[in-house]
This record gives sequence, structure tokens and C-alpha cells, in this order.
Amino acid sequence: CGIVGYVGGQSALEVVIAGLKRLEYRGYDSAGVAVLADGGLAAAKRAGKLVNLEKELGERPLPSGSTGIGHTRWATHGGPTDVNAHPHLDNAGRVAVVHNGIIENFAALRAELAERGHDLSSETDTEVVAHLLAEEFSSSADLAESMRLVCRRLRGAFTLVAVHADEPGVVVGARRNSPLVVGVGEDEYFLASDVAAFIAHTRSAIELGQDQVVELRREGVAVTGFDGLPADVRSYHVDWDASA
Ligand code: GLU
Repeated sequence: CGIVGYVGGQSALEVVIAGLKRLEYRGYDSAGVAVLADGGLAAAKRAGKLVNLEKELGERPLPSGSTGIGHTRWATHGGPTDVNAHPHLDNAGRVAVVHNGIIENFAALRAELAERGHDLSSETDTEVVAHLLAEEFSSSADLAESMRLVCRRLRGAFTLVAVHADEPGVVVGARRNSPLVVGVGEDEYFLASDVAAFIAHTRSAIELGQDQVVELRREGVAVTGFDGLPADVRSYHVDWDASA
């Protein structure tokens, strides 16, 4: 339902949670976050309101890092439980992904992954993406390239945002028939399903086109099509009343 990503000099967790709060008005049944820190990936997720997640983070704090992603879920596949909440991780716990929308061919992909020895723990259509990204990353060592390869195999409508512990300082997003916007700051970048999530930080935005992948680093953004060809980037000023 709501997606936020961040890379920059601030605490990713704080930016992501604040962004998710700005998206609360859309309604959701679960929430979760993942941050890259100390060479690893740490995640927390809870069914229910953001306060449940914040309580969990208060009891079991995540290490602080400056790259992170977050999600508020509106369940379509699998009930609103802690396990089904996003982010979803691969079995090694190195990649985390959040997703808005529906992956129509998830059942076939799930069966394929199970055959290759993957252990899927949720009932969501989303979890297959974490496992597919981990497989692709093991040969490409490039999260944006892995995302392009995976997206070409997906059917349906999706916004996907992912991080990988072996590519610290990188957040990758992708979209098809579902919105995703980049917020352009100074040495920091945001990703969100809605500009409301980052309007407190920047009014400069880039709207991703259909079937595009974006790679965010503190140094800048790179946008390509799912085919890997560089895409035109159209940045604009968000003329929007932040108090609305
Ligand atoms: N289909 C996914 C799920 O049920 C994502 C739902 C959403 O857009 O929040 O987990």
C-alpha cells in the first residue's frame, strides 16, 4: 500500500518511519522496515498499526544505518499477520523487498523456487521476489541488474523497492502499473509510492515511467527500462500543500 526508501546522511529508520506516517491516511493492516548497517541487513515487521512496529523497534532496536526501506501493507495474498508483513527476505537474510500491487504468476514462481531448494515462509505473492533477487544477485552482484532480470519474469501490477547487504548505500526500485516517485535531495534520495512521504525533505521529484528501474546512491540516480536501456529522466517541482 505505502512504500518508502531512503539513502543519504540521515538515520534511514527515522526518515522511513516518518514517511510511512505521512502515508497512513491510505489505510493499511501491517508495517515493516529494513535497514543496511554494519555489513548486514536488519528488519522488523508487525501486523497492525505503525505503533505496533514502533513498540517492537523500542524493545529490539535495529542498528542505525543510512540506507533503508519501509512498507505499509494492504493484504491481497495472505492474511494480515507478522509473517506476511513486508519486507520479505531471502533465506540468507541478505536481500529485503517491499511491494505494492499483485504478482499474478507468483504460484508458478513459488513452485519453481521450492524445487530449487528455497524455503518460503509467508503466504504472500511478494516473497518470491526476494528469493529471485537473491538468485540473480549471486551471479550479477548488481541489485539494479537483478531487479531488471526479475521484473521481466513478473506478471501483474507492482511497485518494488529492495536493498541488498552486499550493496550498502544502494536502494533499487521498479514499477509497472503502480506508482513510484523519486525525491531528489542534497546528497540524499527518497523513493515513495506518493510524494507525501518525502515532501518534508524535498520538493524536487522524478516520476518513474512504466517498466522502469531506478538505482539510488548518495551520488545520484540512474534510471533504465526493464531492458537495461538508459531512460529519460523527467524531474519536476512538487507543487503541493504539505499541510493537506
Ligand atoms: N500483494 C502484496 C501482499 O498482499 C502487497 C499488498 C500491498 O499492496 O500492500 O502482501
